[in-house]
Amino acid sequence: MTDLIEVKVPDIGDFADVDVIEVHVKAGDVIAAEDSLITLETEKAAMDVPSPAAGRVEEMLINMGDKVSEGSLILKLAAESDSAEATNEQEPAEEAAGQASGDATGADGAKPDNQDQPSAPAAIPAAGYDGDVHMETGLLVLGAGPGGYTAAFRAADLGMDVILVERWPSLGGVCLNVGCIPSKALLHAAKVIDEAESMGEFGVKFTAPEIDTDKLRGWKQSVVDRLTGGLAGLAKQRKVKVVQGTGTFLSPHHVRVKSDSGSQVIAFKQCIIAAGSEPAMIPGLPDDPRIIDSTGALELEDMPERMLVVGGGIIGLEMATVYDALGVKVSVVELTKNLVPGCDPDLVRPLEKRIKGRYEAIYKGIGVSAVEAQTDGLKVSFSGDGAPEPQVYGKVLIAVGRSANGGKIGAELAGVKVGERGIIPVDKQMRTNVPHIFAIGDIVGQPMLAHKATHEGKVAAEAAAGEKAYFDARVIPGVAYTDPEIAWTGVTETDAKAQGLDFGVGKFPWAASGRSLSVGRDEGMTKLIFDNKTKKVIGAGIVGPNAGELIAEACLAIEMGCDAADIGLTVHPHPTLSETVAMAAEAFEGTLTDLYIPKRKK
Ligand SMILES: Cc1cc2nc3c(=O)[nH]c(=O)nc-3n(C[C@H](O)[C@H](O)[C@H](O)COP(=O)(O)OP(=O)(O)OC[C@H]3O[C@@H](n4cnc5c(N)ncnc54)[C@H](O)[C@@H]3O)c2cc1C
Repeated sequence: MTDLIEVKVPDIGDFADVDVIEVHVKAGDVIAAEDSLITLETEKAAMDVPSPAAGRVEEMLINMGDKVSEGSLILKLAAESDSAEATNEQEPAEEAAGQASGDATGADGAKPDNQDQPSAPAAIPAAGYDGDVHMETGLLVLGAGPGGYTAAFRAADLGMDVILVERWPSLGGVCLNVGCIPSKALLHAAKVIDEAESMGEFGVKFTAPEIDTDKLRGWKQSVVDRLTGGLAGLAKQRKVKVVQGTGTFLSPHHVRVKSDSGSQVIAFKQCIIAAGSEPAMIPGLPDDPRIIDSTGALELEDMPERMLVVGGGIIGLEMATVYDALGVKVSVVELTKNLVPGCDPDLVRPLEKRIKGRYEAIYKGIGVSAVEAQTDGLKVSFSGDGAPEPQVYGKVLIAVGRSANGGKIGAELAGVKVGERGIIPVDKQMRTNVPHIFAIGDIVGQPMLAHKATHEGKVAAEAAAGEKAYFDARVIPGVAYTDPEIAWTGVTETDAKAQGLDFGVGKFPWAASGRSLSVGRDEGMTKLIFDNKTKKVIGAGIVGPNAGELIAEACLAIEMGCDAADIGLTVHPHPTLSETVAMAAEAFEGTLTDLYIPKRKK
């Protein structure tokens, strides 16, 4: 069934006779709900007008260069009847304007603390909806990754009535299902394999491992299932209602959730968008199952003889660690001059030294210019100074970053501003430009890390409940769980130099750590960065086994405003790697006895 509907220019604030600068559809096009129809330009901003329903464009009534105002007819649409209800009258202008200018009331009637609003344009046209509503809630959380489930659980603990919408069959998002947890399970297997092999040097020889990838995959999945199942139990205990399906906004107070079993509309008072991100792909690659992203890499299917990892960032290098340990000949190609971009080069060096001796090749400052699917493999051509000859690989893993899902949830219909690369801008309370709609986690941008998402989730839930909560972390640590691990937090040495800060560095090489030597590793290093005036620690970097665990002490020290003496005088257990943190502080203070450091000339 189709209904012929007239699609008109919605409320565009105080503007009239606005230029149509782009027309995105023509008569005969079949379009989805929320597809952009035209782009308007006022003297303040450009704005897309989305389609309120899916269907076929019957007649186009506007051309580029036309001038339009609220109510101007754009096109006639033969709308699919189940989405035609979304085309009802626009929300009254006062309500849309009120939502965009801070007139929101919390679920419990509490006025939120809006002192730090983003300066997003107030008049983003939002759609109205007065069709069927199947459920109502105080707070709808869209996406059940670490950000979303944390927000939902915290809000429920604060007494709010919560619905959690998730398109996947299990909770936990990327992190639990196809990210942090499965990758760390496989990295653990890699670590055991490597350690067993390296013990040969010290007189304990094991035979080469027999790797049963089906069993390994099954074990990895059991870890994931245990955690995601646990989340489902926690949701139940808190009476958080989980609705399975893909949610898209219909208006600033309605989301439609579609699943195999049908479609339902949920009305909400407040919403937290936690729809995360997806792997970014290089355009123009052939459609070939041997080209995989991180999710495909975690499946360990059809182990290749040779694999190319495109992208020398954290995810690429972690997966390279796994495949190398499992016996695959790995090469890594990175477009920039450094692996782990954003991290100090002296922290990356020990990792690079180790993997240079193990991997087939590491190409830095080199791009991939073409990939050709052949029967015997994927022929990859490279570009850049010193680019190698084309090579054939059994698999190519694309790990060139992640893109936020802001453009895929119909945010425009809720009046929510979505910035470049799908990122939704928010203020310190995690509010979008529509004050009763919050956004958290990967969808609000870098760093795209689970621990950032969970903290933001708590802030958003507390703010939605009317509390004066702000995301005010001084530092967010980053960790590459490679071998050796690299972890850093706060100001890097590179950034401190670039910013012209007056800073000093305390370093402790692990070659002088009894614990490090006793685990057969000596290449690590702990470095702390201090403000020379206050002696407070402002940054830290650690490379070596378990660096990811050790960095937490530096994070706490920075949050607590510790100075070098606070860290150095704290008695650390011996022999541990944690001593290296205290010793780096002592190195800065000049009180270190485990190494001889000549006194600095005054
Ligand atoms: C291989 C890999 C390893 C990683 N390792 C680490 C690590 O060690 N440490 C770390 O901190 N981070 C790591 N990350 C990053 C981490 O997974 C993300 O930062 C984190 O998951 C972001 O959480 P989130 O809640 O913002 O979104 P996500 O985890 O992306 O969750 C978003 C959820 O929303 C759902 N969703 C999206 N759109 C809709 C819709 N329209 N309707 C309904 N549901 C929707 C998705 O299905 C998903 O479940 C890793 C990522 C990858 C890929």
